[in-house]
Amino acid sequence: MSTFDQLNLKPELKKNLVTLGFTDFTPIQKESLPYVLEGKDIIAQAKTGSGKTVAFGLALLQNLDVSNFRIQALVMCPTRELADQVAQEIRKLARLIHNIKVLTLCGGMPFGPQIGSLEHGAHIVVGTPGRIEEHLRKGTLKTSDIRTLVLDEADRMLDMGFQETLDTIVAQLPTKRQSLMFSATYPEQIEKIAQRVLSKPERIKVESVQT
Ligand code: ADP
Ligand code: ADP
Ligand code: MG
Repeated sequence: MSTFDQLNLKPELKKNLVTLGFTDFTPIQKESLPYVLEGKDIIAQAKTGSGKTVAFGLALLQNLDVSNFRIQALVMCPTRELADQVAQEIRKLARLIHNIKVLTLCGGMPFGPQIGSLEHGAHIVVGTPGRIEEHLRKGTLKTSDIRTLVLDEADRMLDMGFQETLDTIVAQLPTKRQSLMFSATYPEQIEKIAQRVLSKPERIKVESVQT
């Protein structure tokens, strides 16, 4: 039995982890996946490179209804570069699930094509706060089917002054959802955001990164 069999994951996801050459989960994945796959909210503190994208990516993909081409998961990142990386990583994890559409919505990119892609339908949006808020304001991003929210690198988003934007976005999401928050550090403002965004979160802290 492989390590991945111990979790209740779709067979396509398990099989793909092996194909990707993964032999075991990283510490943050081991600690967070059981909660995340149960549908619990988490706030996880772990450094860059610790494997957070897989920790939340598997949760998003596990819970997705592929036949429903509406946005079901929203991932927010502090920068376009990070959003692109996360989207790539999720696409890699999703390789054996057919027709999964992961869309990036970032600032500094033309608006028109993003609207076109949204009209076409997608399952997962990964983006930066400013642009996501703009799409919500314009009504081009619909939130009714969103069941999972991820705040990746939350401390950096605060450093960049995104707090109000995040609050505006979160206020428009369905309250019945799973929220996952990741941060490398844990300043007091992060705790405040956690209290507003998360519901009875599990707190996970991984001290050092396995190399
Ligand atoms: P973080 O978001 O914490 O910065 P990532 O999720 O981007 O980290 O992961 C960093 C790198 O480690 C990625 O290239 C990813 O493919 C790889 N990785 C993640 N989980 C595993 C694993 N269980 N085994 C091997 N490599 C992994
Ligand atoms: P905005 O509110 O300015 O549209 P977003 O919050 O959507 O910005 O995006 C923030 C991130 O998007 C930035 O950290 C940067 O990576 C990228 N970005 C935003 N605007 C630009 C731009 N004009 N040129 C290049 N990258 C940009
Ligand atoms: Mg990351």
